[in-house]
Amino acid sequence: MSFTEQLAAEVASRRTFAIISHPDAGKTTITEKLLLWGKAIQVAGTVKSRKSDRHATSDWMAMEQQRGISITTSVMQFPYRDATINLLDTPGHEDFSEDTYRTLTAVDSALMVIDAAKGVEDRTVKLMEVCRLRDTPIVSFVNKLDREIRDPIELLDEIESVLGIQCAPITWPIGAGRDFKGVYHLVEDRFYLYTQGHGHEIIPDRCIDGLNNPEADSTLGDQAAALRDMLELVQGASHSFDLELFRAGKQTPVFFGTALGNFGVNHVLSSFVDWAPTPLARKAQQRVVEPTEPTFSGFVFKIQANMDPRHRDRIAFLRICSGRYEKGVKLQHVRLGKEVRVADALTFLAGERAHLEEAWPGDIIGLHNHGTIQIGDTFTENENLQFLGIPHFAPEMFRRVRLRDPLKSKQLQKGLKELSEEGATQVFMPQISNDLILGAVGVLQFDVVAFRLKEEYKVECVYEPVNVSTVRWIQCSDERKLTEFKKKAHDQLSLDGGGHLTYLAPSRVNLQIMQERYPDIIFSPTREH
Ligand code: GDP
Repeated sequence: MSFTEQLAAEVASRRTFAIISHPDAGKTTITEKLLLWGKAIQVAGTVKSRKSDRHATSDWMAMEQQRGISITTSVMQFPYRDATINLLDTPGHEDFSEDTYRTLTAVDSALMVIDAAKGVEDRTVKLMEVCRLRDTPIVSFVNKLDREIRDPIELLDEIESVLGIQCAPITWPIGAGRDFKGVYHLVEDRFYLYTQGHGHEIIPDRCIDGLNNPEADSTLGDQAAALRDMLELVQGASHSFDLELFRAGKQTPVFFGTALGNFGVNHVLSSFVDWAPTPLARKAQQRVVEPTEPTFSGFVFKIQANMDPRHRDRIAFLRICSGRYEKGVKLQHVRLGKEVRVADALTFLAGERAHLEEAWPGDIIGLHNHGTIQIGDTFTENENLQFLGIPHFAPEMFRRVRLRDPLKSKQLQKGLKELSEEGATQVFMPQISNDLILGAVGVLQFDVVAFRLKEEYKVECVYEPVNVSTVRWIQCSDERKLTEFKKKAHDQLSLDGGGHLTYLAPSRVNLQIMQERYPDIIFSPTREH
């Protein structure tokens, strides 16, 4: 096989997706079952250890100490049928939502998990908004059918109205709770029957072919006839599956099942293999990059520190957009204009870190980072490209940092610079003072930063309240107007960690007034790298 053919085949086999859900909907459980189906783990249950990340700071710290666990589960590659699946984990805790958002820029599709008793919850709404920025195709899984649930038609209505996306039911549940008997597959015209007690193993699905098969009546009793009546209603009230609409992010195929009972997860996984997009073309500032281009390119969407406490080892997660990674390849670190030889990239096969010989578009590789790589950085083989769409979000909480020991200000600045490059926090330096102001999307981030400053940089700091309610990145194409604005707004201006001009608004009202007063100034709530 020629290189071109091999590249095309590898691209065609890749599916890279993330799971989005409200906490407790079942993301961890589904991840386990996906790995079980991918034969990446022998017995479901291995992913459990990272559950602590969303409960309390103390739990998070404890988890940090066993960082090996959280890292190995944040990118998982496994085979399914003839595909290679890259599953990207997103942190469950809402305080880490920035990380989650950026992870969503590195996938080509997403799995949305919905708790059948609760329906669409607020965090799902937020994550959906992020997916919509790139029209990411979404497969939906309505989970926990082994419990009492809300009316499935009502659930679909809610997904359609709250999330603004068409639903196409692919499977339909037969009963729920104690009476949950399985699903009918509308596309395959086949019943899949649920048997309890096989949550931790793979057993062949028991099937009955054909909606009107009398075997369904003898097996399901009255539930078979009830299902047929229901399906008429469902088919009248919902949409049939349309691959193009799904790929455009306008329609979501919906599956029902129970992750805990390991039922329905394989139907979802098959839908990714059959329908989800292979690695998509990516926009760079200069041009669009196709995955089948022979030369390597990729971008960094996440940096994770100190995975091995003995070495200060920081790993940059890079999504490959085109070409092939090969051990020892020479890559261009575009922002620095420097060539680096990468001999020791990591892969995350089957949840284990391993050294990597080669990798393809859609794959995530880990690069050792000695403080030079930032989120959003592009790596290429000798082309000046900058990938777009890896945003910073305006933080919503702010604290002023005060050192306990004023002599340590160098270490503090170094620590904050590195932690902000990693995305753990955002730093702002007001023009009118020497203050350092931290911004976060969730309050837990502050505790984590203080903890890490102490552990990793030996700096103790305290936080003070500060009169900032939100921040906007400032842009203006008219130099004269910008200068005038800078003069007038001077006391409210600052530079962020990357040296970008920002406006620190003491209140929403103030922001609104300024926006009205300076219509030529762009007050942006996100900043692209
Ligand atoms: P996450 O917060 O989204 O990762 O949710 P988890 O996977 O940790 O699940 C939250 C809780 O729901 C756990 O106690 C799971 O055992 C339970 N759970 C997950 N899936 C199911 C299911 O299909 N049925 C039932 N009854 N419980 C489930």
